[in-house]
Amino acid sequence: MRVYNTLTRSKEEFVPRRADAVAMYVCGPTVYNHIHIGNARTFLSFDVIRRYLEWRGFDVSFVRNITDVDDKIINRAREEQVTAPEIAAKYTAAFHEAMERLGVKAPTYEPYATQTIDEMIEMIERLIEKGNAYESGGDVYFAVRSFDGYGKLSGRDVDDMRSGARIEVGDLKRDPLDFALWKSAKPGEPFWTSPWGDGRPGWHLECSVMSTGHLGETFDIHGGGVDLVFPHHENEIAQAEADTGAPFARYWLHGGMLQINSEKMSKSLGNFMLLKDVLGTFPAPIVRLFMLQTHYRSPLDYSEERLAAAVKSYERIETAVRNARAVAEGAAADGAGASASSADESSLAEALVAAPEDARARFIEAMDDDFNTAGALAVVFDQVRLVNSFLDQIGSGRGAGYSDLLKAIIDTMLDLLRVLGITFAEGEDGYPVEVVDLAAQLAGYGGGDTREAVDALLASRAAARTDKNWGLADAVRDGLAGLGFVVEDTAQGARVIYRGQS
Ligand code: AMP
Ligand code: ZN
Repeated sequence: MRVYNTLTRSKEEFVPRRADAVAMYVCGPTVYNHIHIGNARTFLSFDVIRRYLEWRGFDVSFVRNITDVDDKIINRAREEQVTAPEIAAKYTAAFHEAMERLGVKAPTYEPYATQTIDEMIEMIERLIEKGNAYESGGDVYFAVRSFDGYGKLSGRDVDDMRSGARIEVGDLKRDPLDFALWKSAKPGEPFWTSPWGDGRPGWHLECSVMSTGHLGETFDIHGGGVDLVFPHHENEIAQAEADTGAPFARYWLHGGMLQINSEKMSKSLGNFMLLKDVLGTFPAPIVRLFMLQTHYRSPLDYSEERLAAAVKSYERIETAVRNARAVAEGAAADGAGASASSADESSLAEALVAAPEDARARFIEAMDDDFNTAGALAVVFDQVRLVNSFLDQIGSGRGAGYSDLLKAIIDTMLDLLRVLGITFAEGEDGYPVEVVDLAAQLAGYGGGDTREAVDALLASRAAARTDKNWGLADAVRDGLAGLGFVVEDTAQGARVIYRGQS
């Protein structure tokens, strides 16, 4: 397996410290707002990396922190006229909910900054003792000059950086490059008591403490968006390595930015879409398909058209699975063509025999190459094409003899997609029971059958539209969307596609 390591600026053979285990850390969110889909992309990329490593048999310890004390949280609390801990609690819960909806697995450990203050104070004390940090007016700063390796991750030279920087009047730093490990509290801010007075930790420090605290002084993978390389990750290395004297993370993996019109999506630029809103229109498997069709390190432009294309791709897979299952179970495939010559049929059948093994091998080859999810998905779409042409060839009602072959290839496809966290509802009986309650509320439905409930809802929506009762029509559509259904208006009337709840 090869991974691109920002530290060495090259693709390297991935050799974890232990042959059967991987310890990885990913910087978590600052909980002051709902996350946008740019943040979501980074969390999704590392979710897929983790899932793949687990699928390949590694025991993965995955740590992702919650930054629950920060200027942005304090400012937001002022705006909403509540306390900072209330803001942090609200958006931590929202973050967890959004991650669950997107199908991102919960981390093995999820440390909170505010619950790790003692350990942070201890690290600062050790850094002061070693001469890597100094107190100044109630703040504590890391002395960048005291750490030889500073700049090695971002490829910056301390002397170059220094020539552009200057000490501001009233600055408590000795050197403009130094950064805060501890900040004294201003009136009205949350604070903790420390040997340097009341204050709170700096953001960079948190990650050094929480990662080494759970994974040890040296661990395998450190991840985050490429926007964090400097100064955040550079500072994490300086703090941790100055403290322990041991190498910190061995492989640094950085995700490319999600962009809108070639500009980074960010809260500060105001060009963001919240994950929870996007998931209201496009269910998790669609968002995942859209994002994973681009390599995690490349920039990705957000576009509704590409999300709509992902809907089509998803449906292509779904249709192939449904048709293949129907044929495997002896029923006729929808729209399957006339039977072809048996020579064509048998050569296709041969390809089908080899398909599951072949797909698995090519999927691994793609993913082993720095987690090339775009290549991995291409393998799945090749299988879809293969299944479709086979179904075309054998025509109606002649699939019984190929039942096991078709099942094997479908199972492999779904298995590989599951590694990417892309799941499919298992047919019509898999409708969620909540749809019955929804139909009772909005369509006066009195039965208990999920399929009938959906029909009743669609009938109620159609009637509401005829009456120009847009409120009810929208409520039906939104209610269905909340349960994982997408309503599509076709020439024959409305129908639902069930994409499943993530
Ligand atoms: P933050 O809460 O701002 O610290 O960001 C949480 C994570 O989202 C970090 O790993 C960032 O690198 C990442 N991130 C922020 N903006 C984007 C973006 N536009 N595209 C991809 N990742 C992003
Ligand atoms: Zn971090």
